[in-house]
Amino acid sequence: MNQTVAPRHLVTRFAPSPTGRLHIGHGWSALQAFDLAREAGGRFLLRIEDTDVTRCRPEFVEGIYEDLHWLGLEWDEVVIQSQRLAVYNAALEQLKRLGVAYPCFCTRGDIAREVAASLHAPHGADGPLYPGTCRSLSADARASRIAAGDPHSWRLDMATALARTGPLTWRDERAGTVPVDPGALGDLIVKGRDRPASYHLAVVVDDAEQGVTHVVRGEDVFASTHAHRTLQALLGLPSPLYRHHPLIVDARGKRLAKRSLGLSLAELREGGMDGRTLADDLRAGRFPLGIGLADA
Ligand code: GLU
Repeated sequence: MNQTVAPRHLVTRFAPSPTGRLHIGHGWSALQAFDLAREAGGRFLLRIEDTDVTRCRPEFVEGIYEDLHWLGLEWDEVVIQSQRLAVYNAALEQLKRLGVAYPCFCTRGDIAREVAASLHAPHGADGPLYPGTCRSLSADARASRIAAGDPHSWRLDMATALARTGPLTWRDERAGTVPVDPGALGDLIVKGRDRPASYHLAVVVDDAEQGVTHVVRGEDVFASTHAHRTLQALLGLPSPLYRHHPLIVDARGKRLAKRSLGLSLAELREGGMDGRTLADDLRAGRFPLGIGLADA
């Protein structure tokens, strides 16, 4: 990886969400981050991203520790996001003060109806973008709906944000210098209505606070980096170097999910597999059980 920091200051992290047991793809991702740090004499950190309170469970946090130990991975520090909600809230307040966040009262159903009714609904990397309904609400309307206790999320006003920051780029090991595309995620959520913090805001705040210099993660979140880079610029945070690695697919070419049967690290362990041998096989590009890289 093209290093822009002295190797011994290199810091990577693995940041799973405890919404199920880790699968072999998570293991491979964690190994890459671990090896990158260890080979440089740097630090490898663990972060438990448990802000999705309805889906995260404590036993899955224990499972993460157990699975990583089994693969032979040790971490220098662990951060638990649910213990840091005040920090994310402070970042949200900063966005509000900058005038780049607005409350959104739309339900998923409202958004789906609006998108269906529009002939030219803009689409981003993950499907239709938020149509911007609440962006144009007046300050009075916003204030009175909030005062009335109307449930709402907070969204980033991408156009206003980029007008403020000017054009931005981020650095990716494989894609090179990537210009921020405001249409990748559109006006993304920076505080969900049912979540104490959003993934996008928390990940940006924590990568900076933990001093992460190299973010190693799956290609499935590549598009999110457009949003992350924008948030970094707004909050005055450094931007790490990114490695978005290909995802692992099963024997039928299907992306692994936490519910994929037979490919969780726990199941492999219970089936008698040795964790360190598996780690060495993955390092050498030997993928067991018919799995492989998505774009190999
Ligand atoms: N918690 C996120 C996930 O499990 C992490 C993504 C990232 O590494 O930024 O997908």
